[in-house]
Order: sequence, then C-alpha cells, then structure tokens
Amino acid sequence: MSSPTDLPSHVRAIVDEIETEIGEASGFEERVIEGGGAHEGNGRVEAAVHQILIEIGEDPDRQGLQGTPERVHRMYTELTAGYHVDPERLINRAIFDVDYSEMVIVKDIPFYSLCEHHLLPFFGTAAVAYIPRGRVIGLSKIPRIVEMYARRLQVQERLTQQVAEFLQDRLQPQGVGVVMEATHLCAVMRGVRKPGMVMTTSSVLGLFRTRDRTRSEFLDHLARRSPEA
Ligand SMILES: [Zn+2]
Repeated sequence: MSSPTDLPSHVRAIVDEIETEIGEASGFEERVIEGGGAHEGNGRVEAAVHQILIEIGEDPDRQGLQGTPERVHRMYTELTAGYHVDPERLINRAIFDVDYSEMVIVKDIPFYSLCEHHLLPFFGTAAVAYIPRGRVIGLSKIPRIVEMYARRLQVQERLTQQVAEFLQDRLQPQGVGVVMEATHLCAVMRGVRKPGMVMTTSSVLGLFRTRDRTRSEFLDHLARRSPEA
C-alpha cells in the first residue's frame, strides 16, 4: 500500500502502536512533530459521504452533520490502518529459538473488524494456539497480529485464516489453531438473524488438523473459563 510517510498522522499513530511495543520509541517523535493528527486528503471521501447523506434524505448542512464527512473519512482510515502495518516491524526480532514443544495458547484476545460486505463492524474474541518447532514468538505479538488483520475490510473466515497462516509462515511450527467468535452488526442490526447470534470460525493447520488429541487439547483449553471471567 502507500509508503509509511504518506499516512495521515492519526493513522500512522495506530500503525506504530500495532508495530511497536509500549515504551519503544518508534513513531513518537514523528507524531509530536506532525502535531495533533490533522487530516490530509483530497476530499473525495468527504464528497462521497456528503452525497450518501443527501441520498438517504438527510440534510448534510444541519449542525450535527456538518463535520460528519470528515469524521467518517478519518474513522475509516483508522479502522483500516492494518493495511499499512509492516509485518517485519511488528515482529521486530521477537522470534526466539527455544527447546519447547508444548502447546502455546493465547485466548480472549478482543478484536474489532469491518465486514467487507456492508462496512459494518463485527467484533469478538480470538484464541490463537501453536505447537513450536524450535521457535516461539513474543506473546505480546499475537494480539498485534490479530489486530493487523482485523483493521481491514474482512470476512471472519479469511481473518481467521490469515492469522493462522501468518504464524505458520513465520514460525514453521508443528501446528497452528485459531478460533474466532464474533457478533456481526450487519446480521444483528438488520434483524435477519437472532440478536446475540455469535459466529464461530476456525483455522487449523499441521498437528491441529491431523491429530485428534492436539485438537481436543486446544478445544478443552478454550472451554475452560479464564480466571478473570
Ligand atoms: Zn456484513
């Protein structure tokens, strides 16, 4: 996508946050210099949102709507900031050689994404597991990987798969399992399905696919309540 310097500062800030650990310096100086995240752009999104407001019978000039086209533009660039995340910066040498081959599980990872069919949010939690083959990734990176793919236009199935394939690719583990549970506003707000309906998707690779014992160990962990829940 666009080069890092092209990004409006409010989007750059989100990208930096996904790519870097809290306390790492990257991006902060740049943000201070650019100042409060003024919105750059050619006005085309603003014009399109303005037109939508007219088409649905609204008055885009009434007080509450005057800033809406600009806010909507800003919001969409933030919610799709994941396109600009550089996976190399995200990983940033946080892959370590270890002699450990038990399952690693990170669960209850909250995520928010946008359904590509309606541009409405879907959100829920992800559980990510893998069995290392001599290499592990820093634990704090896993929620960032989820966020890198969630902050895009998505379908839940693909989001789930992309997280699994990323780990497969980078770690070459013995197996990967990802389960995501989410509520889709396009389904619940439009009344086509029952409110509260949750969609579950999974992607299993390697041992998680081929070995029943591994898959059930993973699912048993997921069924267990978190201590704080
Ligand atoms: Zn949808």
